[in-house]
Amino acid sequence: MLDSFGRKINYLRLSITDRCNLRCRYCMPDKGVPTTAHDDLLRYEELLRIAAAAVALGIDRFKVTGGEPLVRQGCTDFIRRLKALPGVWQVTLTTNGLLLPPLLNELCEAGLDGVNISLDTLDNAQYQRLTRRTHTADEVLHAVRLCAARLPTKVNAVLLPETANQLIPLAELAQALPVDVRFIERMPLGSTESTPATTAAIVLDCLRAHWPQLEPISAPRGNGPAHYFHAPGFKGCIGLIDAVSHGFCDHCNRLRLTSTGLLKPCLCYEQGVELKPLLRDGADDATLRDAIRAAILQKPAAHCFAQRENITEHKSMNQIGG
Ligand code: SAM
Ligand code: SF4
Repeated sequence: MLDSFGRKINYLRLSITDRCNLRCRYCMPDKGVPTTAHDDLLRYEELLRIAAAAVALGIDRFKVTGGEPLVRQGCTDFIRRLKALPGVWQVTLTTNGLLLPPLLNELCEAGLDGVNISLDTLDNAQYQRLTRRTHTADEVLHAVRLCAARLPTKVNAVLLPETANQLIPLAELAQALPVDVRFIERMPLGSTESTPATTAAIVLDCLRAHWPQLEPISAPRGNGPAHYFHAPGFKGCIGLIDAVSHGFCDHCNRLRLTSTGLLKPCLCYEQGVELKPLLRDGADDATLRDAIRAAILQKPAAHCFAQRENITEHKSMNQIGG
């Protein structure tokens, strides 16, 4: 379905939990966030009903996210059922990777089409400072290697001033492994940090200084807003997501569903359509479709990250799903 600005909306991010086994500084506030009561979370059956209604409106690609989606019991089975819905073309997962290795087989068998793994630094001590937990970057790297051998894999690194020396080591992963490494500008949501953010343009200059033959790729790659680059000898690509410094809204194709059932048209506004009351009041499929259609028609022209005073979304990223 097209929104009011003529954009084709075909992608839905489904957050299945707000819980996480990490506490990334840019995602969760210092003190953490109160976790949602189990009954307030959408049940898997409810998520599948929403997905089926979304398919009827032309949404055929889904990203399972969180919090950390793999901490929720039954995530693999949910993915299997989601992928089996008629009309669903693609189901991918975004994860911090820590719980991925023992689930990888099951996820492949469930029909998962790809995985994004978040990893901002290869330095173990820095990883622990950034995530406020004792897991290591080596554990995540292990998951990346296993995953890359089985499924299309992307590594997502949020750009932070303190990880400036990690750009080349992270980008080298795309040289050595068949993974796309994507650098994402930190968005001013959910983060209590006020340090100036690194821009994608700075990253590109740095990467070009190291690999002068890095060239933009013009063919479309993936569902999202990344610009991709490739250099000779690389097994994967480098992606830049300049969410803040340049808008990507002209081509925005997505909606987001929080784990409690708020269907969000745009990341930076709190506005959305509450689907849980409809589901629990016995709404029929047509009513559900109308609610999703309403959210699509509420999509604003653009986000307002450049004018922070206009941001009305106060939830943290683990509550929104990234
Ligand atoms: N736990 C999973 C993970 O880390 O991939 C899924 C949820 S996480 C909220 C989804 C994505 O949002 C991650 O790639 C994370 O790095 C990104 N993210 C979180 N806070 C962000 C921020 N302030 N700016 C940009 N990206 C952010
Ligand atoms: Fe958890 Fe992902 Fe947020 Fe990190 S970015 S705290 S792994 S939800």
